[in-house]
Amino acid sequence: MTSPRAEILSQGDELLTGQIADTNGAWLSERLTELGFSVTRHTAVGDDLDALAAALQEIAARAALCIGTGGLGPTVDDLTAGAAARAFGLPLKEDPEALRQIQAWFAGRTYPMPEANRKQALLPDGSRRLDNLRGTAPGFALDHRGCRFFFLPGVPHEMEFMFERAVRADIQSSFPTRPAQLVTLRVLGVGESTLQQRLDPFALPPGIKLGFRTVPPENHVKLLFPADFPVPERDLLIDEIRRAIGTAVFSIDTPERLGGTLIECVDRLMRQTDASLATLETVSRGHLAQLCGAFAWWTYGLVVPDGRPVVQHLELSPGNGLSDGPPDVAAIATHLRRRHGTTHALACMESPRNPSELVIAVASAVGTARVRHRLDGNPGYRRALSAALALDVLRRTLPAP
Ligand code: ATP
Ligand code: MG
Repeated sequence: MTSPRAEILSQGDELLTGQIADTNGAWLSERLTELGFSVTRHTAVGDDLDALAAALQEIAARAALCIGTGGLGPTVDDLTAGAAARAFGLPLKEDPEALRQIQAWFAGRTYPMPEANRKQALLPDGSRRLDNLRGTAPGFALDHRGCRFFFLPGVPHEMEFMFERAVRADIQSSFPTRPAQLVTLRVLGVGESTLQQRLDPFALPPGIKLGFRTVPPENHVKLLFPADFPVPERDLLIDEIRRAIGTAVFSIDTPERLGGTLIECVDRLMRQTDASLATLETVSRGHLAQLCGAFAWWTYGLVVPDGRPVVQHLELSPGNGLSDGPPDVAAIATHLRRRHGTTHALACMESPRNPSELVIAVASAVGTARVRHRLDGNPGYRRALSAALALDVLRRTLPAP
């Protein structure tokens, strides 16, 4: 069975002048590929009615599915509905329910609805309205010459929400696709070239695509299996690959089960063992606290600006040895755990001797372990990396499920 052809149409001068990158196109392509479509073309068109209408006609002749984003707003550069009307010979018609929703959106604000927003309720006659629960611009869908079109807002979070709510189920039931099986191994602290090296010995069966993707500070190994690849065989191979990469794999997403993000994995393990955590951080500048902030097991956090003395911020009892000399990160973690009565404590700071070295100590009932890492990159990256590495050190001390 061949995969149905899908295309993406992104609208806006901003895309052509380079003011924004087409992240909507990338996001949609990934979803459609996972769903079993063959994405054959991306088109970006500026705010030009004729060019948009022509692009829509060309796509209708080539593809079975098209998802367009942008140009649904109230301003003169928002031309999508008009272009679809022109391309497919469907007059624009006011959709009373769309108008009611736009008015209701403004009724909840402190300012009246500008007259310009009325334009957003004009949809090509015969199209289906797609409600926008996150903004004012409704989307719409229509079929033309065997191609199904969905027009979604340009604002990424509105577009993604509308895709999940209104598009995914529709295309899954309307197209005979057999989604390929995507498996993602999420890895922390191992670079792409090392990953490649560890995977070199594997002769993957034909039809399996291997890919790497960096999602800072993580690296993802992606394996795309054909739809009919047997799941038990797939899982055996994934397990071998996981073992070859080692404990740096913190989570595995399969079509049946999401392994989740690092903080989600840590949360699962912390809750499973009824654990609790106190933290102290410098280089990560509150990022660790931000990640842990939503969870009941995180009971204490201290952020000290990096490069400043840490010990003076700890409530020390005399004679524990911490006040003399450069701070000992392991002793700090041990102190935090005792002082705050938690099962675990994490201290994450720059080395007192070398500011480009990160030292992480984790204290638990079995003792205190210390790990060092080189810190490269810009401050934002260092901040995210050190927080993630600290969480990963904690993850490794928690019993596996
Ligand atoms: P609005 O009601 O905000 O006008 P809209 O559907 O008309 O929504 P646009 O005006 O085209 O959308 O874009 C709104 C904003 O969404 C842009 O300024 C840009 O920040 C973002 N955006 C638009 N298209 C894309 C895209 N392809 N990729 C990423 N971001 C985009
Ligand atoms: Mg707009």
